[in-house]
Amino acid sequence: MPYVRCGKCVHKGKTCKGKGKKIGCSDSIPKAKKYLKTLRWRSAHESREITELRQLVRTILLIENDSQPNLASYADRLWDVIIDVLNSDDIKSRVRDMPLDQELSIVGVEGEIFSNYENINQVNLHIAVNNLNDKSGVQVQAHYACNVEDRSKSDLILGLYIPREYSGIPEFERWLEFDLADALSHEIQHSCDTTEMLSADIPEGEEKWISIDHIYRHFGSDAETRGYVAGILGRGRRMEMRGHSVDYNQLLTNDLVGRVFDQALLRGYSEEEMYPVMNSIATKWDQRMTDILKKIGAVDDDPGELSPEEAEKLEQLVDKAVDDALDDE
Ligand SMILES: [Zn+2]
Repeated sequence: MPYVRCGKCVHKGKTCKGKGKKIGCSDSIPKAKKYLKTLRWRSAHESREITELRQLVRTILLIENDSQPNLASYADRLWDVIIDVLNSDDIKSRVRDMPLDQELSIVGVEGEIFSNYENINQVNLHIAVNNLNDKSGVQVQAHYACNVEDRSKSDLILGLYIPREYSGIPEFERWLEFDLADALSHEIQHSCDTTEMLSADIPEGEEKWISIDHIYRHFGSDAETRGYVAGILGRGRRMEMRGHSVDYNQLLTNDLVGRVFDQALLRGYSEEEMYPVMNSIATKWDQRMTDILKKIGAVDDDPGELSPEEAEKLEQLVDKAVDDALDDE
């Protein structure tokens, strides 16, 4: 594909007179020249590796440009803290000796993680035990207790229901892992929601199951759409870290839509009455997920194009790689 620079813009075509579709514009002519060079270089080296490089460039740009708090990094750090708590000898022995009707509460378990983040005051961890020694003995509950008057007084509440002898179960961490990643991502996402979103009339807890209308008002609300989709992304990311290949759309359908559907049937709703409402909810979730995946470049409408910003970053990366390689010699 021939490209031509006309002023600060690059077009398809050979001359500015006969220029074709505009590919992109830069802030200055030198930048546009660089952009043109990169496009030409790229079109000469079109290959699978380039597509992979582009994914990388987009991810780097997304992280650099993200002015929002980095949810994934908060979730990861909080995950580490919770695992450390569970692995400490003190907690292991206290859990072992704890009666079934009591719980162990650790207030402010997060340390410094949220010290620069306004919307979470502290993280309170509550641990209750059971005598089950399989996966059914592990349950995670989480809740962002939003103080709508003063968001900086909002706490993140985390409840873990675990086998008393968890420290002797090698699979324990794996049983906990994906649900915990899901719950942390979901609730940390809520901490980023606007107060307006969170103070909307959203039925919570058992109340959300009272009627079809309540089900929609909970699962289909803007805040919960963001929360549930963040949860799936957090769960999927954790699965990828463990070497699973993840199809996010499938995860959304099987793990989330399916789960809500099953819970509704258990509460006596019929499949016929659930289909339309689940359809509306799934459509909303799907849209949110697709938007996010597009942003990080996992879904691509037009894989043939590279924006000026991406081209510049790619060139920086290539320059750096060449410099590094020369340094090594
Ligand atoms: Zn939620």
